[in-house]
Amino acid sequence: MSKAKVISLTYQLRSGSPEGELIETAGKENPAEFLFGAGNLIPEFEDQIQELSPGESFEFTIDSDKAYGPSNPSAIVNLPRSVFTIDGKEAEDLLQIGKIVPMRNDQGEPLQGKILEIEPETVKMDFNHPLAGHDLHFKGEVITTRDASDEEVSHGHVHTGKDGH
Ligand SMILES: [Zn+2]
Repeated sequence: MSKAKVISLTYQLRSGSPEGELIETAGKENPAEFLFGAGNLIPEFEDQIQELSPGESFEFTIDSDKAYGPSNPSAIVNLPRSVFTIDGKEAEDLLQIGKIVPMRNDQGEPLQGKILEIEPETVKMDFNHPLAGHDLHFKGEVITTRDASDEEVSHGHVHTGKDGH
């Protein structure tokens, strides 16, 4: 395994193809920084970018089964609408179609669900990863690269920008 690196890059992430829906973007004025070689990125994303130098551009597509996997029908569930009742009142600010709602599963682990449909008694929610079922098309340019510090590697994140301490 090669040494871990911190790479800042611009990118556009689109669903499926260069013409697909724009999902995320980072421009030159605010590039994204990622820790490569620490095992917390999609492996194919690391493979495509890790050896590039500043100024080099990239464009590639990762199949959904190598990214966040297929959308799992069993992760789409109907919850009783009473789940959205807080202190006897319905949480109208949360109960909106398309809203991403932080919740907990039976084991108390945090997970996020997207509201798909709201019925009189039930709410249909999708607990799949938001990118499940999407092929991921990345296009962008490497801005800077540097070796990661031992501390960054042990923490599993970059120590500059908003993730610093
Ligand atoms: Zn840290």
